Amino acid sequence: MGQGLLQLYRKELLLLEEKSNRRNLPDIIHQGRKVIRQDKQMLNLSSNDYLGLASNLSLRKAFLENLTPDNFLPSSSSSRLLTGNFTANRELEELLCRLFESESCLVFNSGYHMNTGILPAVSDSKTLILADKLVHASLIDGIRLSTAKFGRYKHNDYEQLEALLRKNHAEYERIIIVTESIFSMDGDEVDLRKLVTLKKLYPNIMLYVDEAHAIGVRGAKGLGCAEEQGCMTDIDFLTGTFGKALASVGGYIICRKVIREYLINKMRTLIFTTALPPVNLMWTRFVLERSVCLTDKREYLEKISNRLREQLIAKGYVCPSTSHIIPMMIGGSRETVQKAEQMQQKGFYMLPVRPPTVPEGSSRIRISLTAAICAEEIENLIALL
Ligand SMILES: *Cc1c(COP(=O)(O)O)cnc(C)c1O
Repeated sequence: MGQGLLQLYRKELLLLEEKSNRRNLPDIIHQGRKVIRQDKQMLNLSSNDYLGLASNLSLRKAFLENLTPDNFLPSSSSSRLLTGNFTANRELEELLCRLFESESCLVFNSGYHMNTGILPAVSDSKTLILADKLVHASLIDGIRLSTAKFGRYKHNDYEQLEALLRKNHAEYERIIIVTESIFSMDGDEVDLRKLVTLKKLYPNIMLYVDEAHAIGVRGAKGLGCAEEQGCMTDIDFLTGTFGKALASVGGYIICRKVIREYLINKMRTLIFTTALPPVNLMWTRFVLERSVCLTDKREYLEKISNRLREQLIAKGYVCPSTSHIIPMMIGGSRETVQKAEQMQQKGFYMLPVRPPTVPEGSSRIRISLTAAICAEEIENLIALL
């Protein structure tokens, strides 16, 4: 390899550095709801552990009580289509079907596998995918891997979406609308009932919803915005991750049986990868079962989120959020990095989000609240903003 080749990469990194957009892996030690970096202890305001379950020691203790060398299986050693399909997989899927009152579901290795795998599997060149402008990178990657035609509509712009559906429905065999329920970067949410109404305009439209930030957090049983808005059975591809509020790892789809069968036959990120370790699947089931009755935590999270949002707006920040994901909009990458460092000095671990994750000029500090944060800590944070 010529030195010139490495030099090209160094140059690119320098360019990122100059724009304050260079990233690194932070060296941090986790201590429950706190993190320690460079000997400084900070409250973690950047975690996706929305219900505080991942940092909950007694939950882990309770799980370990049922674990023995016999049932502690740290690897599945194979794809689910070969010998990697353990009882733990079936038991988790049975629980999901029961909770969602669905005829079928399927578990994947991660939300990233899920989004990059489902869309290429269920679409072809006679398919049009219409995605919200702000959908997560994993959905964009899934769309790119597909052979479908692809269009984007302005964020939550239902009128534009309706116009696109009217214009295109006769040209394609099927149209798939793709959205998140709570959006990862702005923390605002979609009107799922409205999307269901739009999808019902024509018989060849399907709806794909990613509930990554809503599962565990929204709905009476914590099943997400679809439960909250009473439209679970109207969503063709109801998906989410176990990696956030549910304190584990993996992704899932709630769907009709034929979709599950089809995915098992066509979905490359399910077929060509080693299945999740049975011990992870057991842990996911353990947490999911318990998350159903955590209404108090969900209500508390909503309460502190409302308080922080109100105060941000009172201090003059623009705040699109309606959830526990609360961006502090700043604009330039440099100012955002500086502000984040300031807040870290004061004991709050908040991280900047910069391009290309968000559009140029819309850098922000992304605060994600969890139910493990106490009201007093929120007040201290507000006083410093
Ligand atoms: C985090 C996230 C994913 C990825 O899920 P993982 O399980 O972490 O791979 C997918 N979609 C959205 C909207 C996310 O925020």
